[in-house]
Amino acid sequence: HMENSNRVKSIEPSKSISLSAKIAELKEQGEDIIGLNVGEPDFATPAPIIEATIKALKENKTRYSLVQGLDQLRDGIAYYLNKKYNLNANKDHILLGNGSKHILYLIFQTLLNDGDEVIIPSPYWVTFPESVKLAGGVPKFVETLDNFQLDLNAIESAITDKTKVILINTPNNPTGAVYNEESLNKVVELAVKYDLKIVSDEAYEILTYNKVKHVNISSLSEEAFNRTLTVQSFSKSFCMTGFRIGYLCAEKSFIDDVNKLQGHLSGNNCTFAQYGALEALRLDAGLIRILTKELESRMKLAHQLFSEFFPIEKPDGAFYLFPNVTETIEKLGLKNSEELSLYILEKAKVAILPGIAFGKENHLRISFAQSREEIIEAHKRMKEVL
Ligand code: PLP
Repeated sequence: HMENSNRVKSIEPSKSISLSAKIAELKEQGEDIIGLNVGEPDFATPAPIIEATIKALKENKTRYSLVQGLDQLRDGIAYYLNKKYNLNANKDHILLGNGSKHILYLIFQTLLNDGDEVIIPSPYWVTFPESVKLAGGVPKFVETLDNFQLDLNAIESAITDKTKVILINTPNNPTGAVYNEESLNKVVELAVKYDLKIVSDEAYEILTYNKVKHVNISSLSEEAFNRTLTVQSFSKSFCMTGFRIGYLCAEKSFIDDVNKLQGHLSGNNCTFAQYGALEALRLDAGLIRILTKELESRMKLAHQLFSEFFPIEKPDGAFYLFPNVTETIEKLGLKNSEELSLYILEKAKVAILPGIAFGKENHLRISFAQSREEIIEAHKRMKEVL
């Protein structure tokens, strides 16, 4: 047999996606599973976005379009970012991709040579290390503090002459931490001191709670802007996960190199989906606030209910609880978080991801993006088996 590439052999399957396959299988067998594993809210895509997409289809916006993304959309995104974060961006600083996942791949393929190191605070979103490895890079994990904020001293200690990037993700998946301005300023200081790039994944930028505000690291100074590759997505903010619209904001010469690669890789993003995205930028801000408020109330409900089982930090952003479940694992005589998530799936028919999928043993990641009814029912079922 001919073997597949070492590149592909070196990556791990996405644990969140493989569990989703198992759940789909159980559902197909007629099992009634509550999915608190999923990384998307159950909200419908706002109607104006759907209508704008249909209109674009009817107007035959169905051909190839500019590889970097529609001019109008990049103008709109630059305007949105400038207004929100007081940046000075224009359309030359923006490049569209098929979701922010794709953007991460483009970034690391553009940036890394074999053996280059990328510092990734841990716990981390599953795709980060794999996208680094596929580009020949080496992920260097650095534990966060007990409250899941960045440990700047540990990050500085992890820097070597091979380090090229510090990657941050705020609001954070899976921990819900939102990094404060002071620690983001320190990240910029480190990047300047050691001549590094910063990759900042802000897919959950609008989802913050407890009056905490998201800070965009590239807005901290001109120096910060020039070093930062901001990864953004329409998926979570506008309930558009299936549209596959993400983007990169960075200084122009980096965008130009990514664009060169993109021209051979996937070409333009789905043309009519980009018209939907354009409409998303025009949505009444009140509508988005309603979504955030609803998620905040689900967060409080889930936090209150699941705190009965294990200690849980209240998350400041994204839509996940990330409790320490050491005692539950011991009490049930199980070995680790993966066994606990399987136990809960089989006995309570509730799907939750194990912390180890995010590099953190003895934790679970519980999504509160599903309906209140499902959160309440999941708690009831789990109570019986925990
Ligand atoms: N970044 C983080 C931190 C995420 O959690 C996710 C989705 O779960 C993404 C990016 C991917 O989003 P997209 O749909 O834009 O590829």
